[in-house]
Amino acid sequence: MIIVMKPRASQEEIDKVENKLLSLGFKTHPIYGDVKTVIGAIGDKSRVDIEALSNLPGVEAIVPIMKPYKLVNRELKSSNSIVRIGDVEVGGNKLTIMAGPCAIEGYDQLLEVAKSVKQSGATILRGGAFKPRTSPYSFRGLEEEGLKILQHVSSETNMKSITEVVDTRDVELVCQYVDILQIGARNMQNFRLLSEVGKMDKPVLLKRGLSATIEEWLMAAEYILAAGNPNVILCERGIRTFETATRNTMDINAVVLVKQLSHLPVIADPSHGTGLWRLVHDVSLGLVAAGADGLMIEVHGDPANATSDGPQSLRPDKFDLLMKDLTALCSVLGKQFT
Ligand code: PEP
Ligand code: MN
Repeated sequence: MIIVMKPRASQEEIDKVENKLLSLGFKTHPIYGDVKTVIGAIGDKSRVDIEALSNLPGVEAIVPIMKPYKLVNRELKSSNSIVRIGDVEVGGNKLTIMAGPCAIEGYDQLLEVAKSVKQSGATILRGGAFKPRTSPYSFRGLEEEGLKILQHVSSETNMKSITEVVDTRDVELVCQYVDILQIGARNMQNFRLLSEVGKMDKPVLLKRGLSATIEEWLMAAEYILAAGNPNVILCERGIRTFETATRNTMDINAVVLVKQLSHLPVIADPSHGTGLWRLVHDVSLGLVAAGADGLMIEVHGDPANATSDGPQSLRPDKFDLLMKDLTALCSVLGKQFT
């Protein structure tokens, strides 16, 4: 439930309400707005005398949250959340571009891509060091060596970095090297992993599961917030449908709907969403026009010889063209690149 405090409620009144909720076994999440403070309270409502609670000084109203996801729910927080990674912002009025190869293959490969995507306007460098592959015989990443390369190249190019973490045992290691932790589609419901990244002080990008409903996706985000980490970025990356002409079906509906249901920033990944580089440019424009807060795009210097996801990777020159069109689109939408 949400306890809405009166506009001029004092800090003492807010503290009293919070302490009361804590004593009743609730977890509390105060959100200080410009005008009002609201306190999100997660716990067993049946144990509370709602009447007595609403009579506490400073309380304006008590509103139940009907949906199973609470902390990510826009009913709890009406303003858009912004995730900050140093001077790079995700959400609000910004368009954030994450780009780089599917997998880190070596220092030279990553540096070449990083320099070019940075030049085109990307601010976050992506690259997989632990790759969740369908086949155990496919390239599964350079692991810690890959993390070191990513750290080196991102600092050399003055970019922020993101990489996927696939196992609870690697979370602390990955945190030492990168700015944002990525939870991949295949791990969206790995609840131990979600709780683990929820304990870290790094932002988390949570991809939608291959066959996850929007509610399941938001519940997965709820795990991360419930563990204490409010800095979650949602990423729609296409879902499984009957269609086989494309790798996945890019669910543009989800981008629009999730932004209505949740205050969290929502970005989209047209590379995995389509599986075909020839679709990435136009689908990207559609996603941004529909309100995506950013894009994650796979870029490779030599897609034909990429160790992973070459068919959906843009060459740097094609990525540059996309960034030019996104610049024009941004001015129509009143958005700015971050
Ligand atoms: C990736 O970003 O390279 C990746 C494996 O994505 P997803 O988890 O969406 O398949
Ligand atoms: Mn990939």
